[in-house]
Amino acid sequence: MRVTRMDKNKITRRDFLNGTRIAIGASLMAPWTKLFAENTSSSEYYPPAKTGLRGSHNGSWEIMHARVRGQTWPVTAPEEQYDLIVVGAGISGLSAARFYRKNHPQARILVLDNHDDFGGHAKRNEFKINGETRIGYGGTESIDTPSAYSDPAKATLKEIGINVEKFYEAFDQTLYSKLEMSRSIVFDKENFGEQKIVTGYGKRSWEEFAKLAPFNEQARSDFIRIQTENKDYLPGLSKEERYAKLRKVSYETYLRDYCKVDPQLLEFWRKWGISFWCVGIDQIPCVLIHDYDGGMPGLDSTLPRYHTRGDDPYIFHFPDGNASVARLLVRALVPKAMPGTTMEDVVTTHADYSQLDRKESPVRVRLSSTVVNARHTTDQKAVDVTYVNAGKPHTVRGERCVMACYNMAIPYIIPDLPDAQKKGLAYGVKVPLTYTKVLVPNWRAFAELKTDFVYYTKDFYKQVELDYPVSLGKYKRSQTPDDPMILHMCYVHHDNVHKGPELWREGRRRLLSTPFSVFEQHVKDQLNAALSGAGFDADRDVQAITVNRWSHGYAYEPNLIWEPEYASDAEKPWVIGRQKFGRITIANSDSAAQADTNAAITQAFRAVQELEA
Ligand SMILES: Cc1cc2nc3c(=O)[nH]c(=O)nc-3n(C[C@H](O)[C@H](O)[C@H](O)COP(=O)(O)OP(=O)(O)OC[C@H]3O[C@@H](n4cnc5c(N)ncnc54)[C@H](O)[C@@H]3O)c2cc1C
Repeated sequence: MRVTRMDKNKITRRDFLNGTRIAIGASLMAPWTKLFAENTSSSEYYPPAKTGLRGSHNGSWEIMHARVRGQTWPVTAPEEQYDLIVVGAGISGLSAARFYRKNHPQARILVLDNHDDFGGHAKRNEFKINGETRIGYGGTESIDTPSAYSDPAKATLKEIGINVEKFYEAFDQTLYSKLEMSRSIVFDKENFGEQKIVTGYGKRSWEEFAKLAPFNEQARSDFIRIQTENKDYLPGLSKEERYAKLRKVSYETYLRDYCKVDPQLLEFWRKWGISFWCVGIDQIPCVLIHDYDGGMPGLDSTLPRYHTRGDDPYIFHFPDGNASVARLLVRALVPKAMPGTTMEDVVTTHADYSQLDRKESPVRVRLSSTVVNARHTTDQKAVDVTYVNAGKPHTVRGERCVMACYNMAIPYIIPDLPDAQKKGLAYGVKVPLTYTKVLVPNWRAFAELKTDFVYYTKDFYKQVELDYPVSLGKYKRSQTPDDPMILHMCYVHHDNVHKGPELWREGRRRLLSTPFSVFEQHVKDQLNAALSGAGFDADRDVQAITVNRWSHGYAYEPNLIWEPEYASDAEKPWVIGRQKFGRITIANSDSAAQADTNAAITQAFRAVQELEA
């Protein structure tokens, strides 16, 4: 719905219902009637179009939390039998089903997931505006560095129809730079004395940027110094010695104790990498952050830069992110649910959810089904898996089972596991974060400010950015600043009290208890703070919001400041945790302690190989 400036005062926060702005009057009824009439086997059922609180949406997590608190459900006589049961319909679970089907083309497979949509983190968000559909990514964003994918993962992408070379044409790498856009910074009042937006970070000279920034005099001079100097802060050390040392030195310590910058600059960069590592710079070692974002100030002459995962451009992005990877996997498993044949047409294909779980289909994907128990039958020839759907427990029997869910949940699902394995599985605390999508009718204010990305030094959302400019098949990117746009805003809880995984546990607690209205208010306040000078008015311009809250987000990665060194792979907790247990094997990106799609597919491959052994 388009609202004119004159309507502004009539629109209040409460006019958002489940994330979508509603017109006062008849259409007020639409979202509620839809909500109550929901029927997963109906052809109307279409979760990507839902707005409001998504990601770990209400209804998806409560059963498992009750299980963790000790609740149990009866294991009943098996209602159905399968060759393979997969727990988790993320990229790993779907890949496991596909790998197994490749080896056993006649196999009957059931994939169970607790969410109302498949894809795990790789979720799709859709919005309607002015009669057209805009598509966004609710989680897993891009095929990051496909050249570094494992052979099974590369083969999977190819076999489901993805030719990564096509993104060189699909992704307009110069759109925003041709509009002379660059990064802006919104400085906060607490640390910098005033709230102020300064545009042109990385584009203006450092002297000019520092002059406009509300730094104190010392910070201003230190900012220019470390942005421009070529100083080696570890003279006399070999390359290996530098890496060994800076593996244990946080970027905050480095800036403070080596570069000796003013404390204000620590606050300036504190949350710079937080959307990636989900901690502040006090916990990110220099060796990690030095390759981030084109390089961090002060490090270049001390630590030679290298690309840990290869140097592909960051362009391998479907409009819905890797949800298209999940959708192509579903196409391979249940073709009727995802009509079409190409990586282009999958972008605009309307998935038919009513086809996902049909009796006649050899592969069934059952949503809104939380697995609470998996145990071997007494003769050890099968696995009985109990799940809860619509409040009722059901048991299904599989000759084999792959767990592709959250590894930290597995000890509660399989209580018979050895204690050492349970400990290994529990080690990897999942990392909470939120991707909020905001539909706006145009991006003129961004164009006027010449900015495509705003970083907030201290605010709820760390950043807002324009969508990746990708056109694939019939789907065209937002063509001009006058066209609708989906903004991407990232929130990660940060405080100075909790450190390490405790920060993530605290973040998860907060995420699940924060109502939609709080996310919405921050969206509006922060967009106004950055853009109101260029004519943006959140009450008028924000058309819809989808908050993809991932309370169990990224897989734990063992590369932050606190991680011990392990003498061998066999000692790594996630390696101990992912061992085969009878007829059950364990996939998911958690099993690699690597938060990416390559790991999700590669671990699925391993888990299926282990099943065959
Ligand atoms: C916000 C965000 C952005 C990301 N961006 C990228 C990116 O750009 N590139 C990249 O490569 N990776 C990215 N990742 C990492 C991403 O996790 C992986 O790429 C991949 O999608 C993980 O797939 P998975 O199948 O291993 O796990 P998941 O996607 O987590 O799938 C596991 C599934 O199991 C389900 N499950 C859990 N417990 C149960 C239960 N008891 N019963 C039934 N089902 C259960 C879960 O709900 C989930 O649906 C991102 C992750 C997040 C959260």
